[in-house]
Amino acid sequence: MIIVLKNGVERAQTENLVEWVKSQGLSAHLSEGQFQTVIGLIGDVSSIDMELIRGLSIVDSVTRVSEPYKNANRKFHPDDTVIEVGLKDSLKVNIGGESNFAVIAGPCSVESKEQICEIAQAVKAAGANLLRGGAFKPRTSPYDFQGLKGDGIELLLEAKQLTGLPIVTEIMDLSHLPLFDEVDVIQVGARNMQNMELLKALGRTDKPILLKRGLANTLQELLMSAEYIMAGGNRKVILCERGIRTFETATRNTLDIAAVPVLRELTHLPVIVDPSHASGMARLVKPLSLTAAAAGADGVMIEVHNNPQAALCDGAQSLTPEQFAETLIAVNKVREALKQ
Ligand code: PEP
Ligand code: MN
Repeated sequence: MIIVLKNGVERAQTENLVEWVKSQGLSAHLSEGQFQTVIGLIGDVSSIDMELIRGLSIVDSVTRVSEPYKNANRKFHPDDTVIEVGLKDSLKVNIGGESNFAVIAGPCSVESKEQICEIAQAVKAAGANLLRGGAFKPRTSPYDFQGLKGDGIELLLEAKQLTGLPIVTEIMDLSHLPLFDEVDVIQVGARNMQNMELLKALGRTDKPILLKRGLANTLQELLMSAEYIMAGGNRKVILCERGIRTFETATRNTLDIAAVPVLRELTHLPVIVDPSHASGMARLVKPLSLTAAAAGADGVMIEVHNNPQAALCDGAQSLTPEQFAETLIAVNKVREALKQ
């Protein structure tokens, strides 16, 4: 249920109403936007008398929210959520909101100090504002490179120190959480989108979480996974469309570009696109990145390698630093065109 307050209501009156909501055994989410103040009620609202609330002098309207996701719902929070990323030892980047565009770039996996540091410097020079790199890798085959694990995170931290770029890396198991203390953004990969215990644990942290859409999950399921994190108190969730499984075999996955405008309607959370895993092919990354920017995405996550042919993981979809730089120039042109 959402309660929209009239303009100019005093703070004390708003707080009184929030307290009353809490006294009914519900939690209240207050969103004070530029144009509207909205109180979102979360919990079992079946015994709440809507007419009673509607009759209050400070209330403009009351509506029931039928969607099962509440915290993530744009109705609860009409303004875009802007997430500040970057721990004290890195640059600060805002993700979400009209004027921000996140560019997360780096290799599929961290392979060595030289590799990650060289790529970090190259992507920064091209305009990336966050560095990615897998340390724990969810590979389809147990015989493939599984990542450098804790050592990989250490190398990412060295690259962060060198460039100042905040780092994004994937968690696969709850027991590894202590290793992520200095990681700026924790990624939940497609395969773990519905690992509910992991989501609950991340909900108890205050880290920004990059939540990737599962290979065969609906947008509502993605939002319900975000809800798991947010219900625990962590509101810093970034959603990522990374392609889904369809009957099409020409590309690794099928980029569901409609997910971007649809999610932007349904939720206030930032939405980014991963054109690398969506296509599986380096030559498709630029056109899909342009499409993502044109569709209104809040950013892109692109795999970049200094020597794609020798990459231990996902070389075929990795851009060289030069191709990445060229892609970003084109993406920025699309963003400029959208402003006109
Ligand atoms: C990744 O981004 O490194 C990754 C494994 O992607 P996904 O979870 O989308 O397959
Ligand atoms: Mn990859």
